[in-house]
Amino acid sequence: MSQQNYLEGHLPAGHRLSPHWQFGNLPLIGRALTDYPVNDLWETDFARLPRALAKQRRRARSFAEQYLMPAAAELDLAPHLPAGQCHPTTQRILCEAGKQGWLSYFMPAPLGSMPWGSVPYAPIWQCSLVVEEFSRACGGLMLLLSAHHLGAMPLILSGSVSTLMRHLVPVYRRCERGEPHLIAFAITEPGAGSDVEEGHGAQAYRPGVVATPTEGGYLLNGRKCFISGGDLAKTATVFAALQGEGMASWTCFYVDCTAPGYKVTRTELKMGMRASGAAEIELTNVFVPSDRVIGGLRNGWALNRATLNASRIPVASMAVGFARAATETAVEFARRYTLGGKALIHYQDVQLHLATMVAETRAIRSLVWQEAKSGWQPRQLNTSLCKFHATDRAQRVCEMAMDLLADHGGLHENKLDKIFRDVRLTRIFEGTNQINRLSMIEDWQTQLLDFDHPIGV
Ligand SMILES: Cc1cc2nc3c(=O)[nH]c(=O)nc-3n(C[C@H](O)[C@H](O)[C@H](O)COP(=O)(O)OP(=O)(O)OC[C@H]3O[C@@H](n4cnc5c(N)ncnc54)[C@H](O)[C@@H]3O)c2cc1C
Repeated sequence: MSQQNYLEGHLPAGHRLSPHWQFGNLPLIGRALTDYPVNDLWETDFARLPRALAKQRRRARSFAEQYLMPAAAELDLAPHLPAGQCHPTTQRILCEAGKQGWLSYFMPAPLGSMPWGSVPYAPIWQCSLVVEEFSRACGGLMLLLSAHHLGAMPLILSGSVSTLMRHLVPVYRRCERGEPHLIAFAITEPGAGSDVEEGHGAQAYRPGVVATPTEGGYLLNGRKCFISGGDLAKTATVFAALQGEGMASWTCFYVDCTAPGYKVTRTELKMGMRASGAAEIELTNVFVPSDRVIGGLRNGWALNRATLNASRIPVASMAVGFARAATETAVEFARRYTLGGKALIHYQDVQLHLATMVAETRAIRSLVWQEAKSGWQPRQLNTSLCKFHATDRAQRVCEMAMDLLADHGGLHENKLDKIFRDVRLTRIFEGTNQINRLSMIEDWQTQLLDFDHPIGV
């Protein structure tokens, strides 16, 4: 342990010229206007949260540290399981997450587990705080828990009280009893990822999952792929076109995953977030009763876009969690690793490196919170921007951590390699970052085209 009470190139905290020594000598009002408590770096932001959200954030952090963090390495290295099998550690965590309310916090008690103090704030804000803490602990488990809320989002956004009461509330109740019921969100098809996430591509796409009317409901046929948690989900919000029609007929169906004809054909062996399965689902004449059409026929495209608008903010929050974890890892390494007889942290170029990492992380957190705060009506322009910018910058922070740790960064035991693999995926799902840039422009285009005097004409 270092005996020195200052970093090289800096004055000790108690030095006459240090900020606190100086501020402490000002008259009372001057002191009140200048002095401040010295919090942990990240806690400074949290201290500014409304009390109820700060409390939820603390609860999320303690759950993440107690349950997700200790399981992260084990599940990352566990052999790839055949579709439908759940690792015992994952099962245990899902049960505990359900009991503690992490699978039901989009509605207040007694319907769900959102504390009443959080009700005045956009649920996306609360979700973003939770997601940051979970991502910091384990990207894979975070995705497993978060994808469930993504799956539930069309039910919520349908705006139908009867949908909530009949479908979502029973799911929440089961989760809270410790019987995890995950809901998957299924839009991606083997021929279409981006095409089901942006209008221009969707216009030309012929949907692969099709619903054919039958007595009392619809028969679904086709394949979905890359569905997070789709291997363990008990129900799924599946988007399908009506027979003989295009994307404009897209409709959301709430599908029972045990229904005859519903099959998880495989899960992908992917580079990161390995505790969450990415499932391929085959639908062969899966019967869905008419009362499980969510939000009305041909309203699926709207529900999908609204869901993505909401979910891109928590995805940006994942980026904050990963950037924070990478920064924390780098700081810890710089404090402990010695070079030329002194700890790395004493080198000023290392200090500059860390300062940039912290600034990037706090900057994207500010961006995410600003959007999350007004997350009652998330606008495509803002949420797409937030998603691509936060995830791009977080990847950069993780690269900077890798630079600092050098060969130690590539060692699994230092955890950075996992963060590095996990963060990369946030730039792909919920629309690639290229698609999110285009989504931003799509939403902005009316203003871009609105001008009176062309230049040079
Ligand atoms: C870990 C993970 C979890 C996922 N979870 C889910 C889930 O739960 N549910 C779900 O439905 N899906 C899920 N997905 C799928 C994900 O949303 C898609 O992978 C993503 O939208 C990208 O689609 P794609 O892979 O088919 O790429 P493609 O659409 O095939 O794109 C290929 C390339 O072309 C570019 N491109 C495409 N169209 C355009 C264009 N018009 N202009 C310019 N460039 C373009 C893209 O940016 C990309 O670089 C998940 C994916 C991953 C990796």
